[in-house]
This record gives sequence, C-alpha cells and structure tokens, in this order.
Amino acid sequence: MVEVKTKKLANYINGEWVEVERMTPVINPATGEAILDVPLSDASSVDAAVEAAKKAQKEWALIPAPQRAEVLYRVGYLLKERKEELAQLLTMENGKVLEEARGEVQEGIDMAFYMAAEGRRLFGQTTPSELKDKFAMSVRAPIGVVGIITPWNFPIAIATWKSFPAIVAGNAVVWKPATETPIMAYELAKVFEDAGLPKGVINVVFGSGSEVGDAMVHHDDIRVISFTGSNETGRNIASECGRQLKKVSLEMGGKNAVIVMDDADLDLAVEGILWSAFGTSGQRCTACSRVIVHEEVKEALEERLLVAMEKLTIGNGLDSTIKVGPIINKAGIEKIKKYIEIGKDEGAKLLAGGYELTDEEYANGNFFAPTLFTDAKDSMRIAQEEIFGPVVSLIPVKSFEEAIEVNNSVTFGLSSSIFTRDVNRVFQAQRDLDTGIVYVNAGTTGAEIHLPFGGTKGTGNGHRDSGVQALDVFTEWKSVYVDYSGKLQRAQIDVE
Ligand code: NAP
Repeated sequence: MVEVKTKKLANYINGEWVEVERMTPVINPATGEAILDVPLSDASSVDAAVEAAKKAQKEWALIPAPQRAEVLYRVGYLLKERKEELAQLLTMENGKVLEEARGEVQEGIDMAFYMAAEGRRLFGQTTPSELKDKFAMSVRAPIGVVGIITPWNFPIAIATWKSFPAIVAGNAVVWKPATETPIMAYELAKVFEDAGLPKGVINVVFGSGSEVGDAMVHHDDIRVISFTGSNETGRNIASECGRQLKKVSLEMGGKNAVIVMDDADLDLAVEGILWSAFGTSGQRCTACSRVIVHEEVKEALEERLLVAMEKLTIGNGLDSTIKVGPIINKAGIEKIKKYIEIGKDEGAKLLAGGYELTDEEYANGNFFAPTLFTDAKDSMRIAQEEIFGPVVSLIPVKSFEEAIEVNNSVTFGLSSSIFTRDVNRVFQAQRDLDTGIVYVNAGTTGAEIHLPFGGTKGTGNGHRDSGVQALDVFTEWKSVYVDYSGKLQRAQIDVE
C-alpha cells in the first residue's frame, strides 16, 4: 500500500508551497484515523492566490494554445504514471473502493488528453459579412482568473473537468478543494508543477467554504466561479455572483431514477441498479435513488435485488474484495438515518438495510447497510430529496407514460435510465425524460468525459462540465469584423 509522504499539506500559490498555521486533520472514513493535516486558510491566502493568478494569466494567455496544451499532455502522462498511487490515496481520504478510485483517476487522464487536443481546435466561426470586402469571425477569448470550488465525492475528476479547459483556454485558476478530501488537490498541484505549468497559472488554497470559498466568490478579480456541490451552497453562490454580475457555473444535486419496464432484462437491470445505487455508497451526484418499476415485474425485481444485495461486501475500500465503502463522515450517517425514519413514517416498506453498521470491524469508520424501500410514492420525501447514501426506493407504476411522469416529478434533473427492449420506448424515453443525461439499458452513472455533463432544473444553471461545452464556461465569445474595402461601410444601412 502507498505511504502518505507528508503529515502536513500546504497551499500552492505562485508556484510555491506556502504553509498556514491553522490546520485541521483529514480523517480516513473507513478507519477513523487521521491521515494528515490540511490548512484552514483565510481570505489573505485567497488574495495572494488571485494576485499571482492575475499576473501569470497575462503571459499565459499570450502563449499559443497548442503550446499551452503541451503542458496538459505532460499532465496526462504523469497522471497515468501515478495512477495506482493516486487511486490508493483517493480511497484513503474519500473511502470509495479502489476499483472506483482507479476509474476516477482515469477520468482525469482522459480529460487531460481530451482538453490538450482542444489546444489545436478551440474552434470559432468564420461567416460571410453582409457587406462587400468585409470579413467576419468569432473567436474564444480567455476570461482571466477563474475560481473553482469542488466537492469531496469526486476530489480529482471534477477538478480536472474544470481546471483543464480553463487552463487550455488561457485562464489562470484559483482552486478551493473540499476540506474533507484535500490530498487529491495536493497531488494534482504537484503533477502540474512537475509538468512545468508556469508559476501562478494554478493556485490551490485549502480552507473552509465559509471562509476561503466565500472570499473567492466575493473577490472582484475572480471573474468566473465554477462550482460543484450541494444545492443550498450553489444557490447562495449564484445569488452573490448575480449581484456582482459574475459568471457562475453550477453543478448540484440529483434524485436520479432507473425505470424498469415490463419487457426489461431483469438481471441486467439488477446489475445496473446495484452499481448506480450502492457504488460509492450512493454518494454520487448521479446515484440511483429511485427505481420506477412496472407493476408487472415489481415482485420479480424485488426478489432479485434482495438476492443480489446479500452479496454486497461492505468495508475498507482498499481491500479488493469490498464492493461498498464507508460514508464520508458522521454527519452523512445521521442524514441517512433521518431519511430512513422519514421513509418509514411516510409508509414506505423497508425490505433490506436501514441501519448503521456498528460491529467491531466497522466500529471506527462510518458504514451504512445498503437499503431497499418498496411501495414508495413519488410524493414522499424519500422519493423527492437527495439522501446521498446507499438507499434506494422502488416506486411501482402502471405504464410507460406514468414512469416518465414520475421520473420528471422531482426538482432535480441530472441523470435517468430506462431498461426496456422496445425500441419505440427507447426513443420516446430519450425525448421525454427531462434530465441532462439519459442512459438506456445501463444504470444512472457512467458518464464519459467527451460528452457534456450536467443537469436541468435544480441540478444546474444551464452550464455543463466536460465535453467541448466546458469551454463555454471559461471563455468569452468575441466577434471580430475586418473591413478591407477602404471606406466606411455601415451594417444594416449600406447594404445594396
Ligand atoms: P457542499 O457542502 O456544497 O460543498 C461543496 C464545496 O463548496 C466544498 O468545497 C465546500 O467547502 C464549498 N463551500 C461550502 N460552503 C461554501 C460557501 N458558503 N461559499 C463557497 N464555497 C462553499 O457540497 P458537498 O456536500 O461537499 O457535496 C455533495 C453535493 O455535491 C451533493 O449534493 C452532490 O449531488 C453534489 N455533486 C454534484 C455533482 C454534479 O456534477 N452535478 C457532482 C458531484 C457532487 P468545504 O466543504 O471545504 O467547507
């Protein structure tokens, strides 16, 4: 197993590792052990990071994009070399099982090569002018200093979705990672340093959301905030950014559903549900927390799910036999417990789980049994609110139309899925499901980095991470007109 090389993290500002006096321990959620200490910085560190970023960005933006991209290629190769080490550290700080941690690091590698290739594209448009001897085009321009605020549940992947497009487009970055999972941020900053990214182009400031995050949101020289996290925090950030007319991209919660139709391959549906409901212990924004099941197959699905859930192994994700890791912290456990009680009070039937694991082998960590409710109704709170734990509720329906209606009845709109063999229903579903991501004959999770990632309604505010669409967050469109007629030509007026 990998050794943690340092006992104390430091901010990365202007290419220097800057220590901070105030620190807090980072706890391994599987063992309860303190791994190392992370800084609790204040607004003065944000000021220093923004100052460095402002200065660096001016020069960085003048380097041709294909050359900027060279750094990202090197980042990609370094991440590839360090993949196993990073995955193990990720499991230690976040708890997700090693196989998933490797997948998350791979997402960062894929993003590095994808965005590096954008260095030779960053396409704008050329278009005819309405006037003679005049040329018209649009180009992408960097915005300046961008602020990135990321959550603990994907501590490296989400940071790469945001920082790589920002950097290749010619911006400089100030990044505040979640305090719960700072090791990936420290390691990614080291990768940038080793890849030769000029000083100040990326700056990492550790500290709480209420102090460091808030200082970033309020900083006049940070012109974009790209945030992933909870709905509540996102709303507050958006309202402050709105006041300042600051661009803000939000990716927030989900209440994602798998629809199982009467003609579905039930064994495949069970596999899809298990992977998306209990992977990362249900702590993914795309986690399946509702199964909308046709009444004809409800009992058969329940039976198969119960058999499959029996085989789920729970424990420390560093053990390769484990399928379900811990919950991030005690507050997460308490929130899940609260929803179990709410579900019971609302009249849903508890078929499996519903309790915290407290036996000796689990005593120091935060473990919750995979939980299955059935006979839930779409109006219930357990079917409407994000629980962020290994809890899934079956909602029986009578028809395809009702299934779509139930899927769309929540305030979130991130991911949805349908299991069916009927090609007509497949195409109707992809048209009518109102989420930003739709899967057919697969669970609700499994996004690929070259497609846009994000959601509708309460999940986002119209922007997307990943895909070329991510570049829209970190660039301004500039329209350029070049008149080579040698005379003044007035648009709309001097048109023959
Ligand atoms: P969170 O509490 O909103 O925290 C997210 C980040 O925001 C953390 O870095 C946090 O810092 C920071 N923050 C907290 N308060 C802030 C403030 N007042 N100003 C600025 N920043 C502030 O969310 P979380 O519990 O960590 O993450 C889980 C949520 O993220 C879930 O709702 C999940 O669905 C969502 N998520 C969405 C996506 C997506 O792409 N749609 C992906 C992954 C996760 P500290 O925690 O360090 O204080």
